[in-house]
Amino acid sequence: MNPITAVTRAVARGLSMDGSPRSTLRTDYLIDFAALSGKKYLLNFMLAKYTGNQQATQYTIQIVREIGFRIADAKGWRMESPRTMRRAAELAVQIHCHPRLGHLCRRCQGSGNSQAGQTCVLCSGSGVAPQTDEFYASMLRIDKKSYRQTWKSRVDALVNILSGFESQLIAEYLEKVSHETL
Ligand SMILES: [Zn+2]
Repeated sequence: MNPITAVTRAVARGLSMDGSPRSTLRTDYLIDFAALSGKKYLLNFMLAKYTGNQQATQYTIQIVREIGFRIADAKGWRMESPRTMRRAAELAVQIHCHPRLGHLCRRCQGSGNSQAGQTCVLCSGSGVAPQTDEFYASMLRIDKKSYRQTWKSRVDALVNILSGFESQLIAEYLEKVSHETL
């Protein structure tokens, strides 16, 4: 039996590979599925997002950067320097995979509480607050105007690519499971 078939049969029985109940679409299962899919970029993306693995994160940044250059070619994006794309890829991966790192509340540093132990007024206790355009511009090492007019939408486009990776994986997973269950 090929490995994917083995996994999907286990899932169809409501089991994980180690025999524990798998009642929902769990991250660890999606990571297994990405590994078995043979798509290196998907596995690295999932590991970057859900385990914070550094090597996987670097690989994912590299993939996003290459995709970014392909879009840039196709759409005729002008850019300050090729390094800006590398930084935009890093930022997109950070925003998508580790939103708390890129969006730590400036007031409470992510704790959600003031020093007196009360709920932080800026982030209402979530620990997460949007950064300023200045902050993102400084991450890309470009000026604020260039970020707002040009790079903000480009970074969004790269973030959407990462969301697409995950929806693709989930769609393939559900397709496989429903096929196996029939
Ligand atoms: Zn806060």
